[in-house]
Amino acid sequence: MAAAFVDTANITVRAGNGGNGAVAFHREKYVTNGGPDGGDGGRGGSVVLVPDSNLSTLMDFRYKRKYLAENGADGTSGRKSGRDGKDLIIRVPEGTVVRDTATGAVIQDMTGCDRFVLARGGRGGWGNQHFATPTRQAPRFAKAGLPGESREVTLELKLLADVGLVGFPNVGKSTLLSVVSKAHPKIANYHFTTLMPNLGVVYVEEGTSFVMADIPGIIEGASEGAGLGHDFLRHIDRCRLLVHLVDVSGSEGRDPVEDFETINAELRQYSPELAGRPMLVCGNKCDLCYDRENIDRLKAHVEAAGYEFFELSAAAHQGVGPLVQKIAQRLAELPPVKVFEADYVPPMPQVDTSAEVSIEQEDHYWFVEAPWLQHLLACTNLEDFESRNWFDKQLRSSGLFDRLEAMGIEDGDTVVLYDMQFEYRK
Ligand code: GDP
Ligand code: MG
Repeated sequence: MAAAFVDTANITVRAGNGGNGAVAFHREKYVTNGGPDGGDGGRGGSVVLVPDSNLSTLMDFRYKRKYLAENGADGTSGRKSGRDGKDLIIRVPEGTVVRDTATGAVIQDMTGCDRFVLARGGRGGWGNQHFATPTRQAPRFAKAGLPGESREVTLELKLLADVGLVGFPNVGKSTLLSVVSKAHPKIANYHFTTLMPNLGVVYVEEGTSFVMADIPGIIEGASEGAGLGHDFLRHIDRCRLLVHLVDVSGSEGRDPVEDFETINAELRQYSPELAGRPMLVCGNKCDLCYDRENIDRLKAHVEAAGYEFFELSAAAHQGVGPLVQKIAQRLAELPPVKVFEADYVPPMPQVDTSAEVSIEQEDHYWFVEAPWLQHLLACTNLEDFESRNWFDKQLRSSGLFDRLEAMGIEDGDTVVLYDMQFEYRK
């Protein structure tokens, strides 16, 4: 049996924690009182996604669902910093869209993206080497590293194809793909022979080619998940042009105009945007038509709706050339393959800033510690303006500065919060 085609996966990723800073003192023979020389903790490794054109399914993620990057090592004596944790690189197929599992919002489309940091490693804590002051020559403390980010995400593969074939099962989609490209999709005279999407490259002429996707037939109710097909619509989500095949031979006892409308309704239901994509319509199996009644009726219907119509006999290779030429011509005018915009807004972390803090003063240094502060720092990207603003607001509203004032902090004093410090200004 062929391997199943896996095109969605839920995974959990966790970046490494930052290493702890060390408490250590310089020791040498005959030197009695060395200074503090505890090194800093290393940074935790991040979890990074990288697209890989050699991958075509999300199969690997079915067997492995948890991904952990390495923790940063603790600092050691002699001012030695702990080693940074190694980043964990996760390779995904091109065309993978990363969503937040809880909300379904798009975090990142890996199309056209070289690498994406999905979870940032925690920063390492400072060793006691940083905490010596003229009056405190032997600081007996260092800072803990911060935890790495963790996330639950859904990977969703949306194939990268210029053209998507749509239509009822058995209308000849796979046949058409096999005729115009080197792809060898399964072709048989029964429904749902295509159990996974197939991609084929169609060479039009020197320097011109496009990618065509054949997906399992869409059937009525598929967009509500009633049958095979719904799941596969995502693979034509990016297509620039749809080619809609309709069986005009009447060999299945259905009406071509009804078939055409049924499929369009399915597309609309799945995504109005997809249904509005440019589309060419083909009446296929014309070789089996005894009279032109069906062909002409469909043609009139389709053209009245504003689509171009082609008569085709895919199996007999008839009408295929002009169709391919037309597809190439349309693609030349159409925008590139769709890339999904990120619409994920990270929720503001819930931090209870009213909880206990410990404040220690050593002349002009103020050391502030609290579990919530550690959490707050871990949630803050200090390189990001908005994130830093948020952090600032949280600090202000926590009443920390009022307390420092009450304890006598002066302008220009230094406030030390774990791996961060700043000069105090009223
Ligand atoms: P799909 O389900 O849409 O992919 O349809 P297939 O490509 O698997 O074709 C279904 C059946 O229709 C197969 O037996 C094909 O050989 C046959 N078929 C496809 N195109 C034509 C055509 O143009 N003429 C005739 N007579 N049969 C065709
Ligand atoms: Mg097929």
